Amino acid sequence: MIKNYGRKYNFSSGPSQIPLEVLGKIKDELFNYQESGMSIMEMSHRSKYFYGVQNNAIKLLRELYKIPNNYEILFLQGGARLQFSMIPLNYFHIGRIAYINTGPWALDAFSEAKKVDEKLCYIANESKEEIPIITEKSLIEDTKFLHITSNNTINGTQYQDYPKIKNVTLIADMTSDILSKKINFEDFGIIYASAQKNLGISGVTVVIINRSLLDKANSDLPASLSYISHFNEDCMLATSPTFSIYVLNLILEYLNNNGQIEQLEKNNIVKAEMLYGIIDNSNGFYRGYAKKSSRSRMNITFTLHSEELNKLFIRLAEEEDIINIGGHHKRGGIRLSIYNWISIEDCEKISDYMIRFMESHK
Ligand SMILES: *Cc1c(COP(=O)(O)O)cnc(C)c1O
Repeated sequence: MIKNYGRKYNFSSGPSQIPLEVLGKIKDELFNYQESGMSIMEMSHRSKYFYGVQNNAIKLLRELYKIPNNYEILFLQGGARLQFSMIPLNYFHIGRIAYINTGPWALDAFSEAKKVDEKLCYIANESKEEIPIITEKSLIEDTKFLHITSNNTINGTQYQDYPKIKNVTLIADMTSDILSKKINFEDFGIIYASAQKNLGISGVTVVIINRSLLDKANSDLPASLSYISHFNEDCMLATSPTFSIYVLNLILEYLNNNGQIEQLEKNNIVKAEMLYGIIDNSNGFYRGYAKKSSRSRMNITFTLHSEELNKLFIRLAEEEDIINIGGHHKRGGIRLSIYNWISIEDCEKISDYMIRFMESHK
């Protein structure tokens, strides 16, 4: 079957697919945004049009994700990676941050914190194939914050339950699973995610931050690195990444019109169960990397018997327009990234391919 516009079955680990409907809307509005006489990219970020877009995106994100009113939503630049630095810069004055190393992104977050002050951060636990259980005993006394990577994009593991430790504020890098399921915001002090995997395109990073924690941020920083300055300036300290926020808003409208987070979470479960089902029923032909109890619904990682067979699996898939399924270079094997906007149909296509490949190569 040939997809619309010759689009492929794209399982990219990020940037990832955008719903066709959203791409169509972008195309329709590109030359003249809502009778403004120009595209959204060509007008002031302080225009009523762009303010409308930004305010609507904040409102929709709050409604759809059920973000309580005592949390603020910031749209920043610099990727998730800048948050690796902003978090220690804004909060080390309060106390120590413990990091859980569950993969390369988690380790990068720790490495950046170390550059700010290596005495104020440490790795409390680490594990590749499974999410460790973190208790008070895992932490050094006086630890004030715990940083986790809620979904480990490269290893294919994901927290099923979040650690809850008295007097320790949880901070989560949700870049690869934000909005994919309902969460209880009261469990978190800060959640951050760049948009290009589950929320739209690169260029904007969403930071959801508890209001009282925002008030306690370091107010002595250069403005671009300060949560307080960004908040006080409506996130328009520098010219906003207007197009990225515009696409984020369209994605949220799309979700609002397509069953909201309840339906999205259901779809994500169906997609992941479909693919893990094939792995589990393959008699070891497909070997999952992650322990079952820690499996990610977003990144399905596995390997076949040999590197040659992995390569053949990838090459023959490409002949069927199934692309971007090779594992991360640090991990090898196969990785199917099935973020929020990958359709059930796309997962059915790769499932069908996996079954046929197994039949002819076992
Ligand atoms: C992709 C990814 C990042 C990097 O995001 P950038 O926006 O490129 O900085 C960070 N953390 C996780 C968990 C990721 O999946």
